[in-house]
Amino acid sequence: MPWRNISDPYKIWLSEIILQQTQVVQGLNYYLKFTETFPTVVDLANAPEDKVMRLWQGLGYYSRARNLHAAAKAIKSNHKGKFPNTYESIKALKGVGDYTSAAVASFAYNLPHAVVDGNVYRVLSRLFNIDTPINSTQGKKDFHLLADELLNKKQPALHNSAIMEFGALWCRPQNPKCEECPLQAQCLAFQNKTVAQLPVKDKKIKIKNRYLHYFIFNYKNYVYIQKRTEKDIWQNLYEFYLIETAAPEPAEIVFKDKALKKLVSNFKVKSVIPAKKHILSHQHLYATFYELDIKTELTHKTLSKIKRADLNNFGLPQLITKYLNQ
Ligand code: SF4
Repeated sequence: MPWRNISDPYKIWLSEIILQQTQVVQGLNYYLKFTETFPTVVDLANAPEDKVMRLWQGLGYYSRARNLHAAAKAIKSNHKGKFPNTYESIKALKGVGDYTSAAVASFAYNLPHAVVDGNVYRVLSRLFNIDTPINSTQGKKDFHLLADELLNKKQPALHNSAIMEFGALWCRPQNPKCEECPLQAQCLAFQNKTVAQLPVKDKKIKIKNRYLHYFIFNYKNYVYIQKRTEKDIWQNLYEFYLIETAAPEPAEIVFKDKALKKLVSNFKVKSVIPAKKHILSHQHLYATFYELDIKTELTHKTLSKIKRADLNNFGLPQLITKYLNQ
């Protein structure tokens, strides 16, 4: 991978942010696009936010892109464009937590900070047969303490890479290679036959269902879009006019919406694409798309009229891109 065996803190940070909630195969393309478009952290800081969001489109968890951009701007203004070089100053950047600051500090500057990612949690929980849930406050604290204790302080970058690689290639989630494992004699989970049950995770995540009704207003060759400004999913991305309901509702009910009736009166329904499920980590979205041909231009405080052909110049949630691709 292009972010391995390099010491450029900007590129290491970028790869870590991209890979936080993304598979390596998918993240690689985004990493290449970002490093090509913004070769330095100052280039990223100087870019308009819409360009950053547009490049991030499809990766999800858009707060990562917003934080990435804010952090690059902070590096430009507070550190004269030079990437910070201590664990604390890296951690002070927006969107950077223990894991990312330890990764950048150790891989870029060889500072003695243990990196604890999913691979490391798995290896440690099995080697020491620990069943404290890795996503609990106590679990996070215990595993970080243990990882710091075990860290080879003279070669932190090598140590961190080694344990992460060992978890990814050897002590894998499924079918770990226990029979040939060089650590078998020390591995308490192997001795206690608990390998398959470890690591333990609390399953307390509540899934919220949301019902979205998107209206595509066609006026000649134009459509209307708005920017999502609320602190919610897809903040700063663009979308069509939206009505959200607390429960699934048929078109007859949705079309009775007062604000919608006030906004458009003279229209023809061109198509209705029934609700499709779109899964986010903590939310299930059910989005219905109503395409309306309208006869007169709209005036609305958040809607902007753009050429339909220009839609691709805006950062859009994947759910809308999928609809457009249909
Ligand atoms: S013996 Fe199996 S569970 Fe234990 S460290 Fe090796 S691969 Fe992982």
